[in-house]
Amino acid sequence: MTQVINPSTGAVLTSVPGMGPHETDAAIERARKAFESWRKVAPGDRARLLRRFAAVVDQHIDELADLEVRNSGHTIGNARWEAGNVRDVLDYYAGAPERLTGRQIPVAGGLDVTFHEPLGVVGVIVPWNFPMPIAGWGFGPALAAGNTVVLKPAELTPLTAIRLGELALEAGLPPHVFTVLPGRGSVVGQRFVTHPAVRKVCFTGSTDVGKAIMAGCADQVKRVTLELGGKSANIVFADADLAKAAASAPASVFDNAGQDCCARSRLLVQDSVYDEFLALLEPAVRAFRVEDPASPSADMGPLISSGQRESVASYVEDADVAFRGTAPDGDGWWFPPTVLLAHSTGDRHWREEVFGPVLSVLPFRDEEEAVRLANDTEYGLSGSLWTRDLGRALRVSRAVETGALSVNSHSSVRYWTPFGGMKQSGLGRELGPDALHSFTDVKNVFIATED
Ligand code: NAP
Ligand code: MG
Repeated sequence: MTQVINPSTGAVLTSVPGMGPHETDAAIERARKAFESWRKVAPGDRARLLRRFAAVVDQHIDELADLEVRNSGHTIGNARWEAGNVRDVLDYYAGAPERLTGRQIPVAGGLDVTFHEPLGVVGVIVPWNFPMPIAGWGFGPALAAGNTVVLKPAELTPLTAIRLGELALEAGLPPHVFTVLPGRGSVVGQRFVTHPAVRKVCFTGSTDVGKAIMAGCADQVKRVTLELGGKSANIVFADADLAKAAASAPASVFDNAGQDCCARSRLLVQDSVYDEFLALLEPAVRAFRVEDPASPSADMGPLISSGQRESVASYVEDADVAFRGTAPDGDGWWFPPTVLLAHSTGDRHWREEVFGPVLSVLPFRDEEEAVRLANDTEYGLSGSLWTRDLGRALRVSRAVETGALSVNSHSSVRYWTPFGGMKQSGLGRELGPDALHSFTDVKNVFIATED
């Protein structure tokens, strides 16, 4: 049994049994068997079941959000959005089964057609930072494409995933089509990598574990999608709407207590407006409300664990603090929003993913230097840039090596546009119109028409 802790108080919420290797194998075997019939369900029927699943999630938004507030310390506003995101992803991919069309390719002497065949059992491994959305980005399209899914939530945050597994059954999904398997990464997650019936692993988490999973999957040429870390830049040019850029910068990095792979944790400000911009930023950081995440006015709750708080604090100890917000004292893993001045691109807090409410700031001279500094990282997941110059916006958007970029905004992930990383931030894309194909293999069939 694993204890599940409320990070706002440090109190034990409940205990959840962890699956061992035999239970994991048995569940994978049941998912393999269920695949034989699930793949044959008529496209319209599969679509209807997924729409029903979405509707049942919608009926339980408040319950799911409340669970996430208590298990993960997410603000109630965020948690409602996250549960709604699961519903929306299911609705979006419920439109897919009847549209999963192949091609007809001209070949003399017959008919040549392609099919997008489901892979089999897909293993989804989810981290603790966004337990609901990241689960849905895996199981939504995987199920729509005709796969069955085994899903391992993070040990710290299993509660909403377990509930989603129950809601799937309530919605009428056949047993073993979608199975949630709480347990350790090194046991359940590792078995997804080594078990031959699991034909694809969809992993979100740290870059180190992602590399090990990719290496493990190579042994069976197993398909893999990786969503890994980030150290995204927020680039503010002198000609930007500075007030708007400053007002929105705190949420772009401190949302979810900075435990967001898309956090804009490196702020690059053009030197001619550097002082002016920091003066605008300071009140916005101080106004960022860190409080009981169940309160509707909360902008941010606690960190996920005491270990995470220690890790985040280690980046601030010897750094040059520009200014900080406030956080509650007492029980729970609280940490105030913190802005650090970087003195060189070698500073540890500038280079490494902190995964906490810590923003590093560095000035730049010109466009060329901004792009060079933004790209001076092994990561490439997200980012933003602020300018009123349309040509510059397009030039810099194309030059920054990152999978998703926002101009004059910090748009969050949308379920209908592609999401994923360049460089060591990941492999493959989730969401959007194309994600479905990463849960299928193309088959080409030629039928001779000649006698
Ligand atoms: P992690 O170790 O990569 O965990 C992510 C998921 O993978 C969890 O479900 C974990 O299980 C599982 N896992 C761990 N080792 C595994 C293995 N050998 N085989 C298969 N699955 C395995 O990440 P973390 O320890 O939670 O966080 C560490 C750091 O990673 C963070 O501080 C942050 O920098 C980064 N991170 C990034 C993201 C992102 O969205 N890109 C998300 C989370 C963390 P357990 O529950 O047993 O740990
Ligand atoms: Mg870990």
